[in-house]
Amino acid sequence: MKETIGRRVGLEFGGLPAKSGKQDLRRRNLLLLLHYIQSEGPASQAELARRTRLSPATVSGILQPLIESRILVEEGKSSTGLGRRASILAFNSRIAVIAGVCIDLEECEVALVDLSGRVLDKACARYPRYTEPNEVVELAAGCLSTLEARNSLDRSSVAGAGVAIPGLINSRTGLVQVASNLGWVNVQLRALFEQRLGVPVRVEHLGRAKAQAEAIWGKGKNHRNFVCLEIGSGIGAGVVAQGRILRGAGGIGGEVGHIPIDPAGPVCACGLKGCWEVFCAGPAIRKRLAQRLGGDNVPASMLNPLSTLRDLNAAYRQGDQVAAGVIEESAQYLVRGLVGVIWSFDPEFVILTGPVVNDCPGLIDAAKTIMGGLTGNARSFDIPLILESHHAGTGVVAASAAVSLRYLEEFASTDQPPSARFLSAR
Ligand SMILES: [Zn+2]
Repeated sequence: MKETIGRRVGLEFGGLPAKSGKQDLRRRNLLLLLHYIQSEGPASQAELARRTRLSPATVSGILQPLIESRILVEEGKSSTGLGRRASILAFNSRIAVIAGVCIDLEECEVALVDLSGRVLDKACARYPRYTEPNEVVELAAGCLSTLEARNSLDRSSVAGAGVAIPGLINSRTGLVQVASNLGWVNVQLRALFEQRLGVPVRVEHLGRAKAQAEAIWGKGKNHRNFVCLEIGSGIGAGVVAQGRILRGAGGIGGEVGHIPIDPAGPVCACGLKGCWEVFCAGPAIRKRLAQRLGGDNVPASMLNPLSTLRDLNAAYRQGDQVAAGVIEESAQYLVRGLVGVIWSFDPEFVILTGPVVNDCPGLIDAAKTIMGGLTGNARSFDIPLILESHHAGTGVVAASAAVSLRYLEEFASTDQPPSARFLSAR
């Protein structure tokens, strides 16, 4: 049975501070309604009442001030039912829209995302690898200005910006500790963005951002325990445990790519030896391929040391023996780490995302086969490995998720549009 929306309240920040009395109940109900429109999209008051199990009079009483102040606007009429057709209510993107910024190695994408996760428009800027952080911020700011002009919005409509980036990120402070593939170390990225954009900014690790978006808009809806695993040039994860994103004491929880697999393994970017990601992230798989091709008695192969992961996948599908050896050994390492993740967090499922997952689905198939055959005597490892959601898995949408959620919680807490400090208020 589908759970009610109420169980998801407080997914990220713990909901509203505990108070008592009628006012508190009204705020909680307001948050419930805002969460529903956020995750399910525009809805009529009748649908909101039905799905939240609040009375129609309560829903109407709570939402009327929001309609009068144009926070919620009518977006068409419902097409079902008898009699007068009901107004569909949506968040007004002219009052509050979130800038979702996804930073990658050679390009950044910026989107205007409304509070229901809908992308109004997006733009992108390219740059050479290892470009300085302030230049990337400048390019992202240019994209945002372009989007505002194109959509006749000004900066006052942008409630905040969410920035998603691969690397070791402290989402509490906005510090990029290490983003080795960008060549960035100890970059105060939140401060750089806030100075340039003039709006509150949250910087988040890409894996955690995707886990948050999956929880609100994607395959994690109505689930309280799952892991979103990003496999690219490294391995990172967003862990949702008992309905909350795990951040840990230092704000970097979920960096499962640095779980040690083999103390005699290669040195990792983190400085230790034999981390999970040095065995089965993208560079490790390509290195394994080059080593196999350079070994003795190599079978004839359609691959060469410069082959991409897509080439590897295609060769594997065609029965190439070298490709099979590389995929199967990589899959063994992938499963080794997955078993650690499953023991640690006991997830209902693992969402797989990232370039390695997209380019080399054969690796995931091989890992699933190995997982299915694991026989421990303490627990089953046969848990679903699923692919990311089409929409929530988009970098810019994921980047906006935590900001969007925090905005609504602050709104429900204070009963008015949040101040410019809403992202650092708690
Ligand atoms: Zn490491």
